[in-house]
Amino acid sequence: MVDMDKIVSLCKRRGFIFQSSEIYGGLGSAWDYGPLGVEFKKNVKHLWWRDNVHLRDDMVGLDAAITMHPKVWEASGHLASFSDPFTGCTVCGRHYRGDHLAEAIWGSKWFESLKRRLANEDDAIVALQKWAAGDGKKLAPNLALVQRPEVILSHWKTKRSGYRFVQSEFGELLDGIACAPDGTPHNPCPNCGGQMSEPRPASLMLETFLGPVQETATKTYLRPETAQGIFVNFDNVLQASRKKLPFGIAQIGKSFRNEITPGNFTFRTREFEQMEIEFFCLPGTDEEWHQRWIDERFAWYQKYGIRKENIQLREHEKDELAFYAKRCVDVEYLFPMGWSELEGIANRTDYDLKQHSNFSGKALEYFDEESKQKLIPYVIEPSAGADRSALAFLVDAHHEEEVRGEKRVVLKFHPELAPIKIAVLPLLKKNSGIVETAKKLTTELRKRWHSVYDDTASIGRLYRRQDEVGTPFCVTVDVQTVGDDKSAADGKVTIRDRDSMGQVRVPMAGLPAVTEELMAGQWAEVFREHGVSKE
Ligand code: ATP
Repeated sequence: MVDMDKIVSLCKRRGFIFQSSEIYGGLGSAWDYGPLGVEFKKNVKHLWWRDNVHLRDDMVGLDAAITMHPKVWEASGHLASFSDPFTGCTVCGRHYRGDHLAEAIWGSKWFESLKRRLANEDDAIVALQKWAAGDGKKLAPNLALVQRPEVILSHWKTKRSGYRFVQSEFGELLDGIACAPDGTPHNPCPNCGGQMSEPRPASLMLETFLGPVQETATKTYLRPETAQGIFVNFDNVLQASRKKLPFGIAQIGKSFRNEITPGNFTFRTREFEQMEIEFFCLPGTDEEWHQRWIDERFAWYQKYGIRKENIQLREHEKDELAFYAKRCVDVEYLFPMGWSELEGIANRTDYDLKQHSNFSGKALEYFDEESKQKLIPYVIEPSAGADRSALAFLVDAHHEEEVRGEKRVVLKFHPELAPIKIAVLPLLKKNSGIVETAKKLTTELRKRWHSVYDDTASIGRLYRRQDEVGTPFCVTVDVQTVGDDKSAADGKVTIRDRDSMGQVRVPMAGLPAVTEELMAGQWAEVFREHGVSKE
């Protein structure tokens, strides 16, 4: 599995994702999508929209405002309970989410180095001593073991001998090396080893004021999810679209959460994009619809290239479920930092529509023709993140291979996800016939696919560059295509496949038709018809 630093560096180098406000030192947890990133993320959102809205007749779309009436957040329960317990370091001031702390310590630089030291030394006391006097001083200067090694180690000696560290003793080891002067254990800071405070709740809602003068302005919030925009528009959409149950409303848009521990690149940020569906159905049919959506959404990621060994479903335990939810299943991806949520699919019962009916006084009901009764539909909510999906597709596509003794980095994107579909490359940039033909071809191809023309390096370099940004097809124009004083033009160009590096030569006029076949994954057929050679 590729590590995240490699992905971050490729994204910056090739223009997928940049640190926000980098020239001012960067803004923590905010990221900007560059020229290729914006194309790529648009493709993720387009495929989600196409498959979930355009290709179904039981779905419609919506684009609600980010700022909503403050009452919405009272009704939804966000104001009362949308918070995470957080803890802060009493020395360096870093904050962590309570339920993320153990993971952050485990993965911290200082704990990694301590683990290495403990694994390489048979005697734990010796290992702890050496570490505290060496790397510990640099990496965790505020850890009790580093600050008071004699006290801590004499305590250890009375407790344990012949100690070898194993993962299951994580808590015990921490209690031993991080404690107050009176010996009471405390949680150490993942950043500096200092003492963490007791966890307290922190609201995740980002406040904002609508109006020029703060004292008289309306205080509201940047939405923490797009879902509520759908619920409050339920009746509008129902009346306007004349949809019958079951039907769903889909929305893609920005959401904001004052996350305590943002990080892992674009996985957890304070501003992010969601792709959410609220699917309304008759009570009693909800469990079946829930299962159908779980299956569909799980298959969707695999359809666009996520390998099946890297994706799994995780059923929520009863004590994890929101009090109104009947069942919730997460789609998880094996990110470089471990299995993490990509999408949550919940059966939210009739909770949201009931809450908004009660708070607004407007009945959000449905008249069922069959039973001739008004009812409140049940809701299935597949809620995905556009940034997290994009990150998963990126990580999964990343491959390093050896080709003729050299490293080849290639993003094996599904063609529909690739930011550039076709790169047209002239074999000789000094030959005006070749250049003109290649540019004309690019103009033609652009009408149908996002294509680029590039003549800034040798052909080998250009191929590698396109591999690294995941361009599925390169089209090369050479002397044979345009002819010279020795031989007549054959009007053919070479198409090269990114993954196999196989090449076929096809007439220029037939290029759009062949590309269409290739986009649909029909390489075998194209190879058979035109014959294949290797780069
Ligand atoms: P987590 O447990 O990771 O905080 P969550 O369960 O709170 O996530 P949901 O409220 O279910 O997340 O949001 C639905 C989806 O929105 C998530 O599966 C994820 O893809 C995306 N998402 C949520 N929070 C963030 C964030 N801070 N940054 C990026 N994407 C996010």
